[in-house]
Amino acid sequence: MERQERILIIDDSPVQAERLKSILQDDYAITLANTAEMGLKYAREGDFDLVLLDVVMPEMDGFVLLKKLQEEIITQHTPVILITSLNDVENEEKGLTLGAVDYIIKPYHAAIVKARVNTHIKLCRYRQQLEQKAMIDPMTGVSNRRGYDTCCFKKWQEAVRLKTPISLCMMDIDKFKVYNDTFGHPAGDKVIRAVAGVATDYLRRSTDFFARYGGEEFVAIIQGNDAQTAFAQLTRLRKAVESLHIAHNPEVSPWVTISIGGVTVLPKLGDSYDTYLKIADTMLYDAKRFGRNQVVWSNERMEQLREQ
Ligand SMILES: [Mg+2]
Repeated sequence: MERQERILIIDDSPVQAERLKSILQDDYAITLANTAEMGLKYAREGDFDLVLLDVVMPEMDGFVLLKKLQEEIITQHTPVILITSLNDVENEEKGLTLGAVDYIIKPYHAAIVKARVNTHIKLCRYRQQLEQKAMIDPMTGVSNRRGYDTCCFKKWQEAVRLKTPISLCMMDIDKFKVYNDTFGHPAGDKVIRAVAGVATDYLRRSTDFFARYGGEEFVAIIQGNDAQTAFAQLTRLRKAVESLHIAHNPEVSPWVTISIGGVTVLPKLGDSYDTYLKIADTMLYDAKRFGRNQVVWSNERMEQLREQ
């Protein structure tokens, strides 16, 4: 089922807020805030698609609150419509210059409010779809590097907060340049798609994440598993790629294979994601050095796990 869009109404007058709510509640999930402070708190915590913001409020007016919303990473992309009885041009200009997407003047007609809100919700939905699309690699249909960058920060923070292990993993296709030189780039693209397909099958839990980092390089993040379990999971993936039996250039290898490096860590506050990504990269380097087509992993005590 599609998620119902969420609207936050911030208005110091409960009567006004209720009136707006009654206009919109058939189509949207509505949250009310009767002070600017409350509004700011809700906006930070909730995942809102639109904010309807009253301009004239005591203590903090709508303009000040709008500025605050625009400055914060979490709230800056949520569109804001200002609602006010201030019908002079300067105030309207001020609101729009501060970044409001629209400006509704009281007294208003319910149908007009509905129509404008619907328009901005539609635009918001469209923008979100574009953002989603921009994070997908068109060739394989898996996440791209941008999707990975967005995701890894979130997952790392989560692991710190929940005190759960997280595994970072890098992999690439062995001797891929030779493959391309031998069979041509269209064939190489097919191999990349095949590997991405297998990896998606083996990393399909909601706590797994897989992305194409670029070229023949891939990255994965696994939440919750200990080193031994993650290592075993990636070993199965490596074997599954090998058993596709895609013929390689026989001078380097009978089949197309992948090498995988990874690290599992219980991250603490202040630990840097990049430090561990480098360790995963070093493990991948070792996997290549030890002869490719294998998984090399570093556990929580920095001991190396290798396939027998
Ligand atoms: Mg007011």
